[in-house]
Amino acid sequence: MSYKYSLPKSGASKADVLKRLDAFTEMEPDMLHGRMTSYAMRGDEALQDVVHESFSRYFGHNALVRRYFPGFMQIEEEVISTVSSLISGGVDGIVTMLTSGGTESNFCGAHAAREWAKENLPHIKEPEIVAPYSIHPTFAKGCHYLGIKLTRVPLTDECRGDPEAIAAAISENTIGLAGSAPCWPHGLYDPIDKLAAIAKERGLWMHVDACVGGFMAPFVERAGYPVPPWDFRVPGVMSVSGDAHKYGYAAKPLSTINFRSEDLLQYHYVHPKEWPSSRYMAQAFSGSRPAGSTASLWGAFNYLGEEGYVDLARRAMENKQKLVDGIAAIDGLKPWNTDLTILVYGSDEIPVEQISGGMGKLGWPPAGTLEPPLMHLVIDAATEEAVDLYLRDLRLVVEKIKAGEDIEEGSLSYVD
Ligand SMILES: *Cc1c(COP(=O)(O)O)cnc(C)c1O
Repeated sequence: MSYKYSLPKSGASKADVLKRLDAFTEMEPDMLHGRMTSYAMRGDEALQDVVHESFSRYFGHNALVRRYFPGFMQIEEEVISTVSSLISGGVDGIVTMLTSGGTESNFCGAHAAREWAKENLPHIKEPEIVAPYSIHPTFAKGCHYLGIKLTRVPLTDECRGDPEAIAAAISENTIGLAGSAPCWPHGLYDPIDKLAAIAKERGLWMHVDACVGGFMAPFVERAGYPVPPWDFRVPGVMSVSGDAHKYGYAAKPLSTINFRSEDLLQYHYVHPKEWPSSRYMAQAFSGSRPAGSTASLWGAFNYLGEEGYVDLARRAMENKQKLVDGIAAIDGLKPWNTDLTILVYGSDEIPVEQISGGMGKLGWPPAGTLEPPLMHLVIDAATEEAVDLYLRDLRLVVEKIKAGEDIEEGSLSYVD
């Protein structure tokens, strides 16, 4: 056999297995330096402890066959209803389905739009969805799998979705529009109210990708910060995806797809009947799902309560402001005025790739945006511990670049 790795002939002791695993985890970026990346979406360590233990209680249970587990059914009912109440923005009748992640949630939004269009726009044979250029690649993936053409429209100068250009891009095959709240690359909200108004007027579906913002925005708003309109309070919005495993602080994999009504939910369901075993009913696209993720969200909901989530949101926004002020004070750097807890900054004077390279050398996992070149930070409450260190290192790196030191360029891409 010519495979690089294969199953060891005989097993090892638990202690030995764990020791070897620990050697791997020691290779990962430390928590402190991870505080500016997706590691940040953990709240704080005391919360993570609750999340971890809650997951463990349901470690071996499969949420697909929840009918065997009356206790878990109760947990899931509480979680689903609580998510509906959060994402609804106070509107009644919202229904929530649990999924394995934003990818699946966006897939489900596009799928429901397609099935709805078969009934409501029956003349369309080659469905198309129109969205801003910054729409997440997972939405493009979903459309691809579903045979939907995704038309991505250039952004405005300030990198938001452009309602006029989007309206102009609607064709006779368009079944719906989509927008982000906020988008990942720039941390900015698309004008969801304007896009939804266009969709409503033209009789189209409107999907909102609130994967990263969905579990943060409700609490940022309650903490007293302005949040652009994005949820079901906006007339015309029909589906919203929101990731529980981001700012819901749940253990991965857990996300949600939310529909405006039971009527729209009917376009989501695919329940094949013909099978020797039974009618097959799963919540969404994936079959077996870890009950532990749902239990972990239940743990976070009940450990934090509304006050706990609002407190974490407020602290995250304060950390972002400290970083914005600190970065703005460094000559040549330009932090953007982003909407929520993603922060980006660029420079007209120094190559951002060199900042990424320099910061990477100092242990900050490189992450950025390519169009335009930006450094990309993801902030939460515990980012606090890293703010001063980050700014100190950033000042150092920028000084070196300005002094003409040869700094190796780093990556600005996110997942590659
Ligand atoms: C994270 C994210 C996704 C994808 O979510 P996964 O859980 O990684 O599948 C989709 N859209 C946006 C805006 C995101 O931030």
